[in-house]
Amino acid sequence: MTKRIILLTLLSCSILGWTQVSKPASTVTVIKAGTLIDGVSSTVRRNAVITIRGNVIASVDDASAAKIPSDATVIDLSRATVLPGLIDAHTHIFLQGEDPAEGGYDIQLLKYPLAFRAARATVSARRALEQGFTTIRDMETEGAGYGDVGIKMAIERGYIPGPRMFVTTRAISTTGGYALDGYAPEIQVPKGAQIIDGPIEARKAAREQLDHGADWIKVYMTHRSWTGKNGELISQPTLTVEELRAIVDEAHGWGRKVACHAYGGEGMQRALDGGCDSIEHGLMLSDAQIAQMIRQGTWLCPTLYIYYTGWAPADTPEGQRDRKRASEHEISFRKALKAGVKIAFGTDIGGLPWTDPIAEEFPTMVELGMTPMQAIQSATSRAAELLDQSGRLGVIAPGAYADVVAVDGDPLADIKILESVSFVMKDGKVYKAALAEKR
Ligand SMILES: [Zn+2]
Repeated sequence: MTKRIILLTLLSCSILGWTQVSKPASTVTVIKAGTLIDGVSSTVRRNAVITIRGNVIASVDDASAAKIPSDATVIDLSRATVLPGLIDAHTHIFLQGEDPAEGGYDIQLLKYPLAFRAARATVSARRALEQGFTTIRDMETEGAGYGDVGIKMAIERGYIPGPRMFVTTRAISTTGGYALDGYAPEIQVPKGAQIIDGPIEARKAAREQLDHGADWIKVYMTHRSWTGKNGELISQPTLTVEELRAIVDEAHGWGRKVACHAYGGEGMQRALDGGCDSIEHGLMLSDAQIAQMIRQGTWLCPTLYIYYTGWAPADTPEGQRDRKRASEHEISFRKALKAGVKIAFGTDIGGLPWTDPIAEEFPTMVELGMTPMQAIQSATSRAAELLDQSGRLGVIAPGAYADVVAVDGDPLADIKILESVSFVMKDGKVYKAALAEKR
């Protein structure tokens, strides 16, 4: 009994040590920023001083005019480029790259205990934060239930390091509309999403997920894709408009939003007609669909880079499909960008291994037509707007949370520099300080 009391005391002490989440408002930190990209402005600012009280930015001044309080902790980033904490609006912390040699997607659901997947998810979350992604919208747990709600809770309470999380929980699709696929009909296999058929089941699934902590609802509006007789990309539609409308109506009633995975064709059309808030991937957007997105204010989260990786051999049907996906995606992205569709940065990492740099999406966005500043804004102020967090996240300005990152060099001249973020502050707390000279 005595032993147990001591052990419990030790445990609660160490837990208390971890639970210092945000700094008390009285602490003052000052960051000297050599170059500042604030996430909103299209121009950079030189020699700025960012004053942080607790976990909130209090002021941003020119160095010449700034009064640095005598009790402030000064972080010298005067030789670096300082930006708002980055936002990845499409991640999967419960996926680990789906390498076929390691059992692909299926092994995650068939053989790995949930605790193992959750342990790996904590590593994924830490990886995101270390790379400067201080916020993620995690786009479903792939059979790991409400695990994302638990990871988010552990981060918020300070037990593990990680980004701010907006979670979608289980996601929704229809019978025949999600993996695991291809098993004998006699065998019951788990599904990576909650399966519904009919508007009543759709609404019930949305209610369940919202009840258990979903910040967003994720819906798969297309599933399989293949190339048709003339080499055209065809995607299998899943939910009907009526099923999606029930989900959107429910989510909007709760003040939440709906993200639709949709490649193109009929499924894409149903996603837009059903009133979804963000199209994920959007490989094949017609001109009329782009016009409808602009009319309805629908976001596009394109996740470009992943479609340029892991192609099957060119002489196989899968290889032809993979190449067609990338070429169609490029056309759609360029058209959407030109037309002024709202675009948020997203990677689908988890579909890619978490050992990959998350920021490898930036160079693809720039190659396909964005300016480096547009690409950065898609991962800062624009993504914050998608998340209804304008002014709080994705910007360095008074009133915003102190989520600040820095790189050694000019990302506007070389966007790949964002793959080596060397200073990370989230909520006023420094998690990585390779660049900073503290005094
Ligand atoms: Zn995804």
